[in-house]
Amino acid sequence: MAQKTTRTPMVAGNWKMNLDHVEAIHLIQALALRLRSTDSSHIDVVVHPPFTDLRSVEGIIGADNLPIRLGAQHCSDLESGAFTGEVSVGMLSRLSVELVLVGHSERRQFFGMTDELVASTASAVLGGGLTAIICVGESAEQRADGETTTVLTHQVEMALAGVASGAEDRVLFAYEPIWAIGTGVAATEVDAQMACGHIRSVIAHERTEAIASTMRILYGGSAKPDNAGDLVGQPDVDGLLVGGASLDAESFADMIEAVSACYGSPAGK
Ligand code: PEP
Repeated sequence: MAQKTTRTPMVAGNWKMNLDHVEAIHLIQALALRLRSTDSSHIDVVVHPPFTDLRSVEGIIGADNLPIRLGAQHCSDLESGAFTGEVSVGMLSRLSVELVLVGHSERRQFFGMTDELVASTASAVLGGGLTAIICVGESAEQRADGETTTVLTHQVEMALAGVASGAEDRVLFAYEPIWAIGTGVAATEVDAQMACGHIRSVIAHERTEAIASTMRILYGGSAKPDNAGDLVGQPDVDGLLVGGASLDAESFADMIEAVSACYGSPAGK
């Protein structure tokens, strides 16, 4: 736990395909109001709205200087051109987006995002000066077959192929077991620690112990106010990636408070 305080915790909200830009404005305003009475000073708070909301949310964060960072849910690995429907890293950074989710399981499952595309997208994000939150996690079937660590090893190794040496300080991993996403059944803190600890050991093996010990690893999958503290209380869990519960300002702020309580005093900020 002593080492943990050297890594700044993060609570990131993935809004998925929810909220139009007007609804997004309401949510960010409600969150801002609640954060006024929440000590989030030593936590990176991030929201990942849909693309169409970014400009509106950016405007409010900037105008009110809110302690919230802006993220995107996905981007292309390409710079520009005839790629209908895609959005580039450059377009995102012009909107003050600082972080991008890469390889969320819904992108992998429903939109054919391969391990290779995860790596090239991470490379594009880092090349554009942004931070990548790379999502990894096993399916229910893989878990039942005892393949969790094998799957995580493979996904982390493949993703790191897109991370240039020296860019590791702009990379986070998020352990998001597919069976926990949106199901209401979160991993236990013991399972979350086991998986996040394993991810850290793979990073150490692929890079260095020093890089692994400073890289942040989040947990995601049915995280809620009542399990946030137990999950982030684990030594290798440095924060949360939150889906459903981030759509409610009160729940999201309660989780930020629960994470804050795990650290007690400013953690490297
Ligand atoms: C997610 O999709 O990143 C996620 C963690 O979702 P939920 O919290 O709703 O399980």
